Formats: sequence, structure tokens, C-alpha cells
Amino acid sequence: MQVLKVVPRGYCYGVVDALVLAKRIARDPGTPRPIHVLGQIVHNRHAVEELNRHGIVTLDGPDRLALLDTVTEGTVIFTAHGISPRVKERARARGLHVVDATCPDVERTHDLIRSLAAGGARILYIGKRGHPEPEGAMGEAPGRVHLVETRADVDALGPLPGRLAVLTQTTLSQWDTRDLIAYIQERYPEIEVYNEICRATQERQEAAVAAAREVDCVVVVGDTRSNNSNRLVEVVRKVAGRPSYLVDSVAELDPAWFRGLSRVAVTAGSSTPTEVTRAVIERLESL
Ligand code: SF4
Repeated sequence: MQVLKVVPRGYCYGVVDALVLAKRIARDPGTPRPIHVLGQIVHNRHAVEELNRHGIVTLDGPDRLALLDTVTEGTVIFTAHGISPRVKERARARGLHVVDATCPDVERTHDLIRSLAAGGARILYIGKRGHPEPEGAMGEAPGRVHLVETRADVDALGPLPGRLAVLTQTTLSQWDTRDLIAYIQERYPEIEVYNEICRATQERQEAAVAAAREVDCVVVVGDTRSNNSNRLVEVVRKVAGRPSYLVDSVAELDPAWFRGLSRVAVTAGSSTPTEVTRAVIERLESL
């Protein structure tokens, strides 16, 4: 089978920085032990398993304050998705050694929320419910940020007086977000719009859609919990109109998907290790 390798794909700089930082502190004998990460450092089980081999324990669960309460000593790492100030303060107050692996692009969104809230704005945050990034970002201005995922969420808000702003999670589909922002602007014409989808996400989506138009289907290598990987599948299906499959590893490839096809494209979420994607490409080339 002919395989088109989509460029760019895979690790973004935010993920690379977070993994390098975590491994560096794990190698440093001066780092207080044990070392825990609050949530998956990036949403990929292979990356999590690798950190585990470096002696870093991942604590997983929906509530980071609750996770933090299980840590009594040593070092705590905050993930690339960002963290609420409340969790940071509690970790420091408990005397833990804190290492913050938040991506600079997420930091920028946190800065924006703080500055908008200080200017008296109420904020609509377009994001994925239950994902750690909205949880961290909304924690910058408790009570002033409304999480919206769908038109129904917007409808439920009702009239919102005063200064309003809308901004986005970094890893959303740029096409879906554009539609929802247009809907929000119809309801709140004066609203200020800040598109915070990061460059890495946009470039991977645009490259995947362009490649999809030249092939029969697209395989996305990524974890089911990875928002940006799921969005790659979605934009290929919705924007390019091609079938797309999300696989966590080569073991999940089903040869039946490719029967009768001659060209497939492969891309990967920004949290997917290169070697996992390489194995998928090699398997597809052998079909
Ligand atoms: S996907 Fe974007 S926001 Fe997330 S870690 Fe990568 S560069 Fe940062």
C-alpha cells in the first residue's frame, strides 16, 4: 500500500519540552522523591509508560485537587495542559517541590484570562468538558468563565451584560470553533474574540485535510484521550470527506479497513511518540 506521511505530524514543541523537563528532573539525584505527575503528562499511554520507567508515577483522575491530596511528600509535576492557581497554591502550601510543565501556549491563554477578568470581562471559554486544560484555565478567574462546548450551552447562558470575550482551548478543530464563534457573535454582537488554537494544532489539521484529499483514507495515530488526535480524525471526516481511523498503536490496525484501497495517509496527534507512528507506517507499507 502506498503511504503518504503527513507533515507536520506528531510531537509539538510543548509536548517535547514537557517530556524533556520530566526526564531531566527524574535523572537529577537532588530532586525530592517520590515524583508524581498530576494527570497524564500528555495524553498518550506510551509517553506515560515511558515516564513510569524513569520512576515518575502518574496520578490519574478528573479532579486535580483530589489527586494532589494523595501526595504527602516529594515532587509534583503539573502537566502540559496547564493547572489552576488553586492547585499550585495548595501544592506549595503543603511543602511539595513543584515542577510546572505547562506549555507556553497554554500559559498565554491563562495570562489572557487573567487580564480580561481584571478588565471586568465575563468570558466564554470554548472547550471540552472534563479535559484538564479548561479546568486549569477556568481556575484563573473562578465564577467569570463559562465553559461552552455546543450551541445548546450558549443558549443556556441567557443575557450577559457588560464586557464579554470568547476564547478557545488550544487543541480544538478550527472549523468547528469558527462555526460556534459565529453563533456566539450572533447572540452577543459586541463580544471580543480570541482564537487560542495553537499553531501546532492548526498546522497538523491543515496538513491532514490537504493530504486526505489525495488519498482513500487517513490513519491518525494517537490516544483516545488526546483531544488533538480526535480532532484530526474529525476534520478529515468532516472537512475532507474521507474515512479516518484513530489507532493507539500498530496492534489496532484492521487490514479490512484498507481492502480495495491503494493510497492511505498517516498522521499523528501532537502527543504521539514518533516510534509508535513509524511502526504504523511500516505495517501499512507492507499491506
Ligand atoms: S498542542 Fe499546542 S498547546 Fe498543546 S502542548 Fe502542543 S503546542 Fe502546546
